[in-house]
Amino acid sequence: MSTFFETKIEFLKGIGPVKATILNKDLGVFTFGDFIQQYPYRHEDRTIVHTIASASEEMAFVQLRCKIVSMQTAGEGTKKRLTATIRDGTGLAELVWFQSIAWISKNLQIGVEYLVYGRPSFFRNALSITHPEIEIYTPASENNGKWQAVYHTSEKMKNIGLDSKGMSKLMAHLLPNAINNINETLSQNITKKYNLIPKKNAISYIHFPKTQFELDQANYRLKFEELFYAQLKILRIRTVRKAQNAGIIVHQVPLLNQFYKNHLPFELTNAQKKVIREIYNDMHTGKQMNRLLQGDVGSGKTIVAFVCMLMLLDYNAQCCLMAPTEILAEQHIQGLKIFADKLNIKIAILTGSTKKSERKILLNELENGSIKIIVGTHALIEDPVKFQNLGLCVIDEQHKFGVAQRAKLWAKNQNIAPHVLVMTATPIPRTLAMTFYGDLDVSVIDELPAGRKPIKTVHRFESQRLAVFGFIKQEILLGRQVYIVYPLIEESEKMDLQDLYNGYDRILDHFPMPDFQTSVVHGRLKPAEKEYEMQRFIKKETHIMLATTVIEVGVNVPNASVMLIENAERFGLAQLHQLRGRVGRGAEQSYCILMSGPKVTQESREKLATLVRTNNGFEIAEADLQLRGPGDMMGTQQSGVLDLLIADLAKDQELLKTAREEVLNLLANDPNLEKPENEIIKNHVLSLSKNTINWARIS
Ligand code: ADP
Ligand code: MG
Repeated sequence: MSTFFETKIEFLKGIGPVKATILNKDLGVFTFGDFIQQYPYRHEDRTIVHTIASASEEMAFVQLRCKIVSMQTAGEGTKKRLTATIRDGTGLAELVWFQSIAWISKNLQIGVEYLVYGRPSFFRNALSITHPEIEIYTPASENNGKWQAVYHTSEKMKNIGLDSKGMSKLMAHLLPNAINNINETLSQNITKKYNLIPKKNAISYIHFPKTQFELDQANYRLKFEELFYAQLKILRIRTVRKAQNAGIIVHQVPLLNQFYKNHLPFELTNAQKKVIREIYNDMHTGKQMNRLLQGDVGSGKTIVAFVCMLMLLDYNAQCCLMAPTEILAEQHIQGLKIFADKLNIKIAILTGSTKKSERKILLNELENGSIKIIVGTHALIEDPVKFQNLGLCVIDEQHKFGVAQRAKLWAKNQNIAPHVLVMTATPIPRTLAMTFYGDLDVSVIDELPAGRKPIKTVHRFESQRLAVFGFIKQEILLGRQVYIVYPLIEESEKMDLQDLYNGYDRILDHFPMPDFQTSVVHGRLKPAEKEYEMQRFIKKETHIMLATTVIEVGVNVPNASVMLIENAERFGLAQLHQLRGRVGRGAEQSYCILMSGPKVTQESREKLATLVRTNNGFEIAEADLQLRGPGDMMGTQQSGVLDLLIADLAKDQELLKTAREEVLNLLANDPNLEKPENEIIKNHVLSLSKNTINWARIS
């Protein structure tokens, strides 16, 4: 970008220091460049004037040219409203206001011609518009015959005249000068290939389109560019690293073969075998592996991770497995120790609750190399943990491990960076994976071990509780066990507990002791108490496990066949899917019952319907993306990757794929962007990274 765009925003005519401060704070706008990239979030079509007779319910908005026939107020207090009858030669319609009534009725005049714009609704076949935009009609009316951009604003901005229209006016000031300073940012090859309009035009059209077509062209061009540079950034990291970093090279794998022949407790699924082969290929090439392993709950990722560890142990390397919680780390070590012991491999666990004396020994044994596999929490990379020779790090995580943390890991070994395998239990839609884990290679386990019966899922309302409890009773009498889960919302832990205990009372009423036994587990219990209750459930001493979401990553009880989730509408899709994965681990048919209150929002209804419809984690992740959007889905800590100004990872998936392919194509032909035809791209990458540095300084 030229220096013009680095001009401070306060120097734009009509802004000044006071407004500038508010723009800084509320929109993060500091410069002309920032301002011009405040893209409208929608546009209103003011090019067509409708007639009252032609307005219909299907229209999102209508624009009318009409006169006011009469005005009247009705109702009292908060119910007070102003209505105006309007006429345009084809019929009558009504305008309605509930606010600013005094001001509006004073300013509107009967008999004067107005331009009215708003959302049409119909009441007894008559058109009515609530809180319309209204202005006196003149042949040169400001919005007449135009597309009107609508901008994000804040309350504070509105108070100083920076509402959407105010923003538009400023944009109109800035644009004529700006246009001459806008440089093209994509190479000719690309603009030709994808038929993209010049950057200048795109910026101009996005703010002031004259037609739908101009608007579409502008959107396409700007979104493509944004996604292209985002992918270029992340894929260059990958290319550079692949070229530089070596990992421990694996050839023969006797230990793995021994395990495979003698100790593997089941036949691996084809998907598991395929993934193991992909991982072996990585390690065999001598390049350091950075791979994402996606697989639904219960798809058997742990054994894959263990097999990969075995590949490295023959090469005198150590391996670590990081879990997001201590409970999960515990569960991993329990499972892996059985295998490790058979092969005489020294394995240990290190978490926040490891005793000091023990920790000292562990750290020592890690440094001298006698511990071969260490399981733990994220503390494993943060702590002064030293390895003799770390060859592989497996991260079993839930979106909590970004590029920065991975970089920390690569530095853990002095000579050769460890191979990294990131496992996610929650499948991520392809587009998000490309963005968040775009620097990783991706493997997918898309098949569950044979013999699993798909879980049957239903949505039930409070009014059906008796029937639900009846069903549960039946299952218990058949010898099965049941989970009942309450949502945990951190802000009001007390209330959550209250919910849980109320639920417990109800359970005791319907499932009386001594015939029925219930375990209660929640976050406030001491670890030992929790463990005790869990053990009772595992040993089948209790029939029902009543819990907050602590069991989400916890126990593995194949005999449990029912998962009842209370207030299911309060959980996220991914979380519900995870919880459901706690059942369906044994041979019996399993059920998941999603219980909700009588009133459920449309969004929640869709959410629950998605779970009823499918067990496929990828489909659920896709639905989650559409419902919540990428920001909410991936959590704010990763939002840096989501700093997209115009593209939308949920809506622009096709475009993202195209952009990514183009970037791969580019890097294959010109990895360092040295060719003259790519100079524009190289320069833009440089200016983008310069901008990032500026941002760090400001914030
Ligand atoms: P996740 O992918 O959710 O981490 P796990 O690794 O915990 O799944 O595996 C779930 C269960 O399935 C475990 O009890 C594991 O032993 C078992 N399992 C894994 N792979 C197979 C297989 N190929 N055949 C049968 N059972 C398997
Ligand atoms: Mg797992």
